[in-house]
Amino acid sequence: MNPEGHPNWDTDVLIIGSGAAGLRAALAASEHANVTLITKTTLTESNTHYAQGGIAVVMNLDDTIALHIKDTCDAGAGLCDVEAVEMMVSEGIPRVAELLEWGANFDWEGTLPRFTQEAAHSRRRIVHKGDATGRETTDVLIQRVLNTERIHVLQNTFAIDLLTDADIAKARGETVTCYGVTAIVEGEVVCIRARATILATGGLGRVYPCTSNPKVATGDGFAAAWRAGCEMVDMEFVQFHPTTLYLDGAPNFLISEAVRGEGGKLINIRGERFMEKYHEKGELAPRDIVSRSNQKEMELTAFPCVYLDITHKPAEFIHERFPTISDTTRRYGLDISVDLIPVRPGAHFMMGGIRTNTDTETNLKGLYACGEVACTGVHGANRLASNSLLECLVYGTRAGTNAATFANSYQSSVISAQFQEGFEAATRHSLNDNRKLKTDDYSIEAIKDAIQETLWENVSIERNGEGLRQTLAELEDLTEHLEAVRATPEMTTISMIETVNMLDVALMITRSALMRTESRGAHYRADCPTQDDTNWHHRILITHDNSPEVIPL
Ligand SMILES: Cc1cc2nc3c(=O)[nH]c(=O)nc-3n(C[C@H](O)[C@H](O)[C@H](O)COP(=O)(O)OP(=O)(O)OC[C@H]3O[C@@H](n4cnc5c(N)ncnc54)[C@H](O)[C@@H]3O)c2cc1C
Repeated sequence: MNPEGHPNWDTDVLIIGSGAAGLRAALAASEHANVTLITKTTLTESNTHYAQGGIAVVMNLDDTIALHIKDTCDAGAGLCDVEAVEMMVSEGIPRVAELLEWGANFDWEGTLPRFTQEAAHSRRRIVHKGDATGRETTDVLIQRVLNTERIHVLQNTFAIDLLTDADIAKARGETVTCYGVTAIVEGEVVCIRARATILATGGLGRVYPCTSNPKVATGDGFAAAWRAGCEMVDMEFVQFHPTTLYLDGAPNFLISEAVRGEGGKLINIRGERFMEKYHEKGELAPRDIVSRSNQKEMELTAFPCVYLDITHKPAEFIHERFPTISDTTRRYGLDISVDLIPVRPGAHFMMGGIRTNTDTETNLKGLYACGEVACTGVHGANRLASNSLLECLVYGTRAGTNAATFANSYQSSVISAQFQEGFEAATRHSLNDNRKLKTDDYSIEAIKDAIQETLWENVSIERNGEGLRQTLAELEDLTEHLEAVRATPEMTTISMIETVNMLDVALMITRSALMRTESRGAHYRADCPTQDDTNWHHRILITHDNSPEVIPL
């Protein structure tokens, strides 16, 4: 128990999130320290679990590290951090080899994995397990985590805020240190104290109404980091996937890029194939271009979707290559070997996030970030397909090792005394920061809907200054409303905190998008439609207490 009577949990390294990044970090950290891994619902619920297409890696005989780096940087539209990309591409090879050694049952052809093609890759370099690569990857990592004694897993544990010593550190002019998190376990707020903390909370697709992301992706990690004083970068760059399933009654579901990689064609409601008129690479053009083209065709034909057609391939091949897509669509009366697949764009991936260096360190001492919530700069303004799982494996490993080393550095008695003082200050601060929130669920749901609607309208595939300003005003109004609701000190609900998080994230995206007066990668401004390298070959940094600012690459 801490001084205020709240239960505590102590650990060396705390990892928040059970996607590929968090699981891989846990395995690396456990080689040097005791680890606690917490996750919002079950171990398997994550963006990673739903990943279909595969993992990009240089293993094919005609491929090179230089080519993969070039493809990644071309997709990133001039904003990739080349050092971080080089590290991901080269360290990715042993990370994927290790996954295979641990039992990942990817598809094989002779003595090599069967490589598939995806948009904007100059080589076939995507290793995969049918269309369920994420499930195979998490299964392998989860099994290993559960078999590792030094890793303690807490499911259904919702991280609220980071514990920091901001008050005393700022007064002394020192760097703020993170000491763990506050979390909700079985309806109780608890403190989980850690010598080092890794945020691996994944994406934020759920701030949009159309998305490929599962329910857990409400951007909690981005928001908690921002509130704790982390530097956030590239928040204007949200990737929209061109093909999410559009079927009455069906849940959010992705139709993998690999369907186009295997020859799938996009057609509009009039039966016209259209991608060639928008890009020389047709259906294999970069994602942002295919998403905008789909949206354009939907507007031109005044129809709520376009169609993906793979029916020219043999039925046996289709069902064997895409078993998950085939089974899921079948449940809604669609056979993809004979029927067209109705699709539309949806929010898919966040390129920006918590600013980290290649050692995954943030600007808070003791806080590391990896995976989708982090921004090392590997994706620049647009992510190359299948690079994300690779990023999780590489930077998850680095985060685990570095966080464990940092945690172990507390073993000297001087540092231990500092830790104790900082931790106590952090606990007092957090528990006094009235998190007893309450509203009736209806108005929370209404606020969530309002956030999603305004973002979709003005801060999605196509943006313009006027719309962005309108959304910013609406989000600021909603913030005031939410503040009023928060002032009622009755009860903390997860739904309430998720809504606060969604609003924080929406504000970061909108403010950054308004500032970038050009189009680049996934950020398209109809009022400034060209890329402006003279003025905008820079990144945008946003922090809680300051307006967004431009920083050099
Ligand atoms: C449908 C789909 C298909 C994709 N296909 C591919 C692909 O083929 N190849 C590729 O490279 N990428 C793909 N991606 C992207 C890729 O899957 C993700 O970017 C990547 O898996 C992110 O991994 P992560 O570990 O960072 O986060 P996630 O896998 O999202 O894990 C985040 C974890 O954090 C937990 N969490 C969140 N908030 C809290 C909280 N408040 N408290 C406690 N826990 C919390 C979540 O429950 C989850 O366990 C796809 C994404 C989707 C959605």
